[in-house]
Amino acid sequence: MQNKAIFVDRDGTIIFDHGYIKGPEKVDLLPKAKEAIDLLKRSGFMVFITTNQSGVGRGMMTSKDVEKVNTRLLELLSPRSVDGILICEHSPEENCNCRKPKTGLVEPVIKKYNIDAARSYSIGDKDSDKELGNNIGGTGIKLGEKGINTLWDAALLISSKK
Ligand SMILES: [Mg+2]
Ligand SMILES: [Zn+2]
Repeated sequence: MQNKAIFVDRDGTIIFDHGYIKGPEKVDLLPKAKEAIDLLKRSGFMVFITTNQSGVGRGMMTSKDVEKVNTRLLELLSPRSVDGILICEHSPEENCNCRKPKTGLVEPVIKKYNIDAARSYSIGDKDSDKELGNNIGGTGIKLGEKGINTLWDAALLISSKK
C-alpha cells in the first residue's frame, strides 16, 4: 500500500510571511493552520513542510537561523502531524534542482516513503507551490484561487475527497 503526501509551503501558508524570517520570535501561525495540518494527517496523508529559503543562498541568514525558526514552528504545531521539513537554501541564481517548483526536494522523499505522487498534493501561496504538485504528477493548490483562501480551506477540500 503506497503512502500519499501533502507538500505544504511554510511562509504565507502556515505562518505569516514577514519576509526572510530569520528569528524564532517572528514565527506566527496563520489562523487554523495547526488544525489544518492535523486534519490532513488524520485524513491519512504524510505531511512535509516544503520551503524555499533563498535568504541563506543570498547571505542574509544562515542554515542555523532557518533551523531555529523551524524548531519554533514545530513547537507550535503538533509535532506528530509533521513528517519532515524539506528546505532549499539556494538563491535562484544558483539554479539548483530543488528550488520549488522544481522537484529535487521531494523526489527522494517520494522514493523513500513509497509515496503515490498522483494522490498527493502541494499547497502554498505562490504559483511555484502549485506547480510543484503538478510537476510531480499530483495536484497543486494555490491559496487565493478557486475559493480556497487558507490552508484550512485546502485541508477541508482534500479531506472531503477521500
Ligand atoms: Mg509562501
Ligand atoms: Zn535548492
